[in-house]
Amino acid sequence: MKSRSSDAMLESFIAGLSGLPEQCILREEAQLRPYECDGLPAYRTLPWLVLIPETVEQVQMILRHCHRQQVPVVARGAGTGLSGGALPLENGVLLSLARFNRIVDIDADNRTARVQTGVTNLAISQAVKSLGLYYAPDPSSQIACSIGGNVAENAGGVHCLKYGLTVHNILALKVLTIDGELLEIGAQSLDAPGYDLLALLTGSEGLLGVIVEVTVRLLVIPEQTGVILAAFDSVVKAGQAVAAIISAGIVPAGLEMMDQFSLRAAENFVHAGYPLDAAAILLCELDGSDAEVSAQIGQARSLLAEAGASDVRVARDEAERQKFWAGRKAAFPAIGRISPDYYCMDGTIPRKHLGTVLATINAWSGEFGLKVANVFHAGDGNLHPLILYDGSKEGELERAEELGGRILELCVSVGGTITGEHGVGMEKINQMCVQFNDEELQQFHAIKQAFDADELLNPGKAIPTLNRCAEFGRMHVHDGAVPFPELERF
Ligand SMILES: Cc1cc2nc3c(=O)[nH]c(=O)nc-3n(C[C@H](O)[C@H](O)[C@H](O)COP(=O)(O)OP(=O)(O)OC[C@H]3O[C@@H](n4cnc5c(N)ncnc54)[C@H](O)[C@@H]3O)c2cc1C
Repeated sequence: MKSRSSDAMLESFIAGLSGLPEQCILREEAQLRPYECDGLPAYRTLPWLVLIPETVEQVQMILRHCHRQQVPVVARGAGTGLSGGALPLENGVLLSLARFNRIVDIDADNRTARVQTGVTNLAISQAVKSLGLYYAPDPSSQIACSIGGNVAENAGGVHCLKYGLTVHNILALKVLTIDGELLEIGAQSLDAPGYDLLALLTGSEGLLGVIVEVTVRLLVIPEQTGVILAAFDSVVKAGQAVAAIISAGIVPAGLEMMDQFSLRAAENFVHAGYPLDAAAILLCELDGSDAEVSAQIGQARSLLAEAGASDVRVARDEAERQKFWAGRKAAFPAIGRISPDYYCMDGTIPRKHLGTVLATINAWSGEFGLKVANVFHAGDGNLHPLILYDGSKEGELERAEELGGRILELCVSVGGTITGEHGVGMEKINQMCVQFNDEELQQFHAIKQAFDADELLNPGKAIPTLNRCAEFGRMHVHDGAVPFPELERF
């Protein structure tokens, strides 16, 4: 990677940012420091320069300048990403989209809204609430994370089981390429001809273009919502209950699991009314018309009891429903109160393996001497093991990383994936070598080349080079033949 250490280089680069107002440029160390990491603080790098443009034309000019000068660019929304996707480069520009915070248009008849990329997820639902509408994907970070970051990560949330991920809830994007060309992808209607570039861009982690505007779909706020809390004396039984509900044809709006460690942490923090003696709890939310919700609550209650729940409670009113959810929503900060550091993993598995995978994680937790809390989107099979560690203790971060890697590889071995919603970023880049074979990775690189031939957009993230996989030692060996024998092994 080219070093850009000299002040003269920086001054000359800034001089080429023609017309960019001074308030959009941060260069002093104290100004750069807040951008050194995202929501994965174990990895930190001070950026060379931070730019916070205010208009699409300014972003265009910055990208063209970076392209000409061959300076890499990392786009950043709110910096809440958990996989190090917005980790800056010491020789690159950190491009903050924070000032793109305007809702451009709300079309209540079409149930869509056009919003700038930096608008927070929650702000969209707040802006359309008076029209009886909302935006369905609801990451727990929704108060802070940006819609552009949601698109770049294909973010999910509690309600994605029924309503889909970000990719299912957007219609169009405005994206700038590295050479400043403005692409309009998708359409304001439900389908668009040609290759599905909207899906390609969604989850592309800032590697293919910089999103400046998103058209989102809006849904009608359901007439009724109810939540059931079910307690179990074993995690395996809770896992089986999840499978029973789904196979009965019920599609809950959300179906979340917390193990004993996390439910106790949450209970001590927000007093949600959770049973402290349970090995695991499920929160099962049902929404729809009054009649649908009461019928489904009855059916789900019976299924949960049949699956061995020791206690099944239906929230009596909206206040109690909010209380049940408050514990789930506060689970991450609750763990943060009792451990100096934690490492949040994000793998997805077929639901039928929930019980055995959780039991294996528990056994490894003992082997590594690191506590693991499980609080996750059980209905989607999307695990979030939180590995607790103390970064100030010699070797603990490395042990946490190794355990995390093992867990992700376990997910792949049972037919799952290494990410459900947090993206690959830096965190899971080695496990990409386990998930995909060399030919598949080459196809990913070919797509990157088509959009960004000089590899200036978020280089080094999300898609590993074949050399990296060789170094990681996880290249696929077929019939004993090592692929790409010409590549150096380390
Ligand atoms: C407490 C907590 C809870 C969370 N819960 C969830 C959850 O339930 N579900 C979930 O999915 N995630 C969750 N996350 C992770 C995170 O909030 C999401 O990944 C979110 O989508 C990131 O948005 P952001 O604006 O913060 O993006 P950033 O962190 O700034 O960036 C994320 C990635 O997107 C790229 N990017 C950002 N903006 C753009 C743009 N305009 N154009 C191109 N690329 C861009 C960046 O380069 C980077 O690769 C949680 C995070 C925290 C801290």
